[in-house]
Formats: sequence, structure tokens, C-alpha cells
Amino acid sequence: MSYIIGIDFGGMSAKAGIFKDGQFLAKKTAPTSMTDGVERTAKIMAELAKDLAEENAISFDDVVCIGIGSPGVIDSAVGEVVFWGNYDWHHVPLGPLVSSLTNKPVFVTNDANAAALGEAKYGSGKQFASSVLITLGTGVGGGVVIDGKLFEGFRSAGTEIGHSVIVKNGIPCGCGRKGCFEQYASARALVRQTREKMSLCPDSAMWEGLNSLEEAGGKTAFAAAAKGDRAAQEVVDGYIDYLAEGIADIVNILRPEAILVGGGVSNEGKRLIEPLKEAVDRKIFVSSDIVPLAVKKAELGNDAGMYGAAEYAISRL
Ligand SMILES: [Zn+2]
Repeated sequence: MSYIIGIDFGGMSAKAGIFKDGQFLAKKTAPTSMTDGVERTAKIMAELAKDLAEENAISFDDVVCIGIGSPGVIDSAVGEVVFWGNYDWHHVPLGPLVSSLTNKPVFVTNDANAAALGEAKYGSGKQFASSVLITLGTGVGGGVVIDGKLFEGFRSAGTEIGHSVIVKNGIPCGCGRKGCFEQYASARALVRQTREKMSLCPDSAMWEGLNSLEEAGGKTAFAAAAKGDRAAQEVVDGYIDYLAEGIADIVNILRPEAILVGGGVSNEGKRLIEPLKEAVDRKIFVSSDIVPLAVKKAELGNDAGMYGAAEYAISRL
């Protein structure tokens, strides 16, 4: 009997899932906080893993290894969180700490990378050997799976998909450059584009039910566009074109079989995915009628990182 535990560690909570032979069995969540500090945080994760096994009548002795998807810059070779701004962590040996508390091998990767691996193996990418997950949230995150393996780059510092420049001298980005993909294609960027249009178009249906620009969100433009509002449709078309611009670069360089789109904006479903696929197809070097390219909505949502953390541990064992 051999089980694997995958933990998706975040600033507010840690979510652990237990797996056997590639099958998800059960999950459990515990709160996390910056004020816990390093030692306590490692203890929370170790106890979460043990409790999860115990509550499902699984002997912890039968757990082979643990994978962790963590925010920040991770040196996955040694399981270290090199830097994570939100917790002000510098060179935290998270993997070795959890390992010493559990007596299990513990493997750590970046949370976005874990999500990409999870989605590739268990979600909308499972019929493809190579896929790229693009997560549209506060920023644009993602990860790359090539021939079934996660590609992390040297010292796991690669695949910062959101920071390729699509507009030279464009909007300043937190990374120090201007015009980064995530400044145009994140959910936050969509909200900004929506509000800019609304301020120019006081008669737009985007204003329906809203009293101020601040009330407009990531769904506002898509909802009004679905009702036939022209200004809203322009926002949607413009946003999708930016998104396609960044995706086309990724496709031209890596040529995965599939682009998997996750994050809050992906919940627009077909209204996002179908025009996105067409726009990407117009921009890529070899179109999808010659070399097939799937563009799909990610399926696992917030569980992708947990699945991927387990899969990552298996890949490293
Ligand atoms: Zn940037």
C-alpha cells in the first residue's frame, strides 16, 4: 500500500490531498498565516498530512512521500523557498523542515508550476504530452509541461509567462519592465480596460446595476457583451487580442499540444475560449490546421496545485 500526499501551500491556507495509484482519495485544509513563522508553518503542514491520512484510515507509514507547491522563488533541487515576498521569507528550507517532522521525502516546487503539472496530468491536459497552463488572476501565471515532465528552468526560476513583453514601452510592471503580458491579460488588466471604456461610454450596458467605476469587475464586460453591448464587446475583443498575443509567443517558442486557460477569467468558458482560439490561430507561425493546437479551459480550478504537488513528488521520487 503506497500513498502520496500533495500540499498546495498558500498565504491563507494549506490544502493537502492524498492519492493512491494516480487516484485522488480525499483532501483537508488548514489555515496558514505569516505570523506563524517558519517552524510553525512547517509543523502545520506536517500535521495536516498526518491528520489527512489518519482521518481516512490510512497508516502514515504507508505514505511514500510528500509534494509541496509553494508560492515564491523555489529552488526545487533542495526544497528551499529562496524568496517569498508575502511572508518575507528568504532561504527557508521548507522541504527539509517538513521532511524532518514527517520522516518522509518532501519535494517542493513553485505553486504555479505545480498547478500546471496537476492540470496536465489530471485535468484538461491529460490527453496531451505537452501543455502550457496560463492562469488569469491578479497576474498572469503558468507553467510548462513538456513530454509529461514539468519544465522549471535553471534553479526552478523559469517559465515566468506573465513577464514577456507584448507592448514595448507599455504599462510599467512590478518586475521592472514595461509592457509585460500580465499588464494586459490578467484579470486585473481586464478590470482596468473595462473601467477605461466605461468612463468613455456612459450609455454602455456595462453600467447596468453599477453606481461607480469601482464596482465594475472582471465579469462586467463579458456580461454586457453577451447582451449585445458594442462598447463591452470592444473591451472583450481587445482583452482577448492581448491574451492571444502573449499566448502566440509561447506557442511559437514551445509548440505545446495544448494551451490550458485557468483562473477567474476562464470561467467565461466558451465566450472566452472560442474567440481566443481563433485569435491565437491567426497569430501563430504554423496554424492549427497544419499542426493541431488545442485551447481549453482548465478543469481543476483551485485543486490543480494540490494534484500537481502530489504528481511532482512522484516525478522526483
Ligand atoms: Zn513584468
